[in-house]
Amino acid sequence: MILAGKVALITGSTSGIGLAIARAFAAEGAKVMLNGFGDASQIQALCTELGALHDGADLSDPAAIEAMMARCSAELGPPDVLVNNAGIQHVSPIESFPPDKWDSIIAINLTAAFHTVRLALPAMRAKKWGRIINTASAHSLVASPNKSAYVAAKHGIAGLTKTVALEAARDGVTANCISPGYVWTTLVENQIPDTMQARGLTREQVINDVLLAAQPTKRFVTPEEIAAFALFLCRDEAGSITGANLSMDGGWTAA
Ligand code: NAD
Repeated sequence: MILAGKVALITGSTSGIGLAIARAFAAEGAKVMLNGFGDASQIQALCTELGALHDGADLSDPAAIEAMMARCSAELGPPDVLVNNAGIQHVSPIESFPPDKWDSIIAINLTAAFHTVRLALPAMRAKKWGRIINTASAHSLVASPNKSAYVAAKHGIAGLTKTVALEAARDGVTANCISPGYVWTTLVENQIPDTMQARGLTREQVINDVLLAAQPTKRFVTPEEIAAFALFLCRDEAGSITGANLSMDGGWTAA
């Protein structure tokens, strides 16, 4: 088992991509700490299914992140694998983009990863092994209209990833981004109404002409595909992959 004896902390793992990564890691023997919001009984069921712990830290709150990292270390051990995956979206032209939404997106999609990395790295360095995997996005490489905060945060996390990779390169710790195109999760589903309104389109037009318009494969990436790739990055054979922004976007950014 690839992750036997390893501790994996995956932020935003109560749904979507993070949950698929948590399932894949638990199946390979990792002790998993879940994080994210959701229905308490469903989260309890996930903990039972995966033999995992859950910490409900709000990642826009640095003190809550510190408490989550301390709890992970105390109850499971310091994370050997850190997946910064939690993310939110808001779609609006920049002139009417609510400043509080800007602040939340930057805090959750970018600043939270700064805090988890700075807190997780010392133990990884001490063990001479660690994996930092950040869920970025095709929007870490290219922009789309009406997503100013998200695109800024995702470009930011790509830069943070490269910097961490360089700082940790001699210590057996790799840091990479996985940059998906459109994945069918609640995050995508929830932005359909706003995009319908912003562009005056029907639901089908948003799916086919806006979302999948950019994706040459004309299908959504699956959370399971991303989880399998994340698992590969945890293998010892992936030890030379660091500082990379790894696209899984059905060819979007090749165009
Ligand atoms: P999702 O909405 O299914 O999952 C988001 C997770 O983040 C949930 O567990 C949620 O509870 C958690 N979360 C949200 N706010 C939080 C907060 N303040 N504190 C702690 N947890 C919080 O969405 P997803 O599509 O699985 O997104 C996961 C990541 O993938 C995000 O970073 C997103 O930007 C990225 N991504 C998604 C797509 C896509 O098409 N779905 C494409 C590229 C990148």
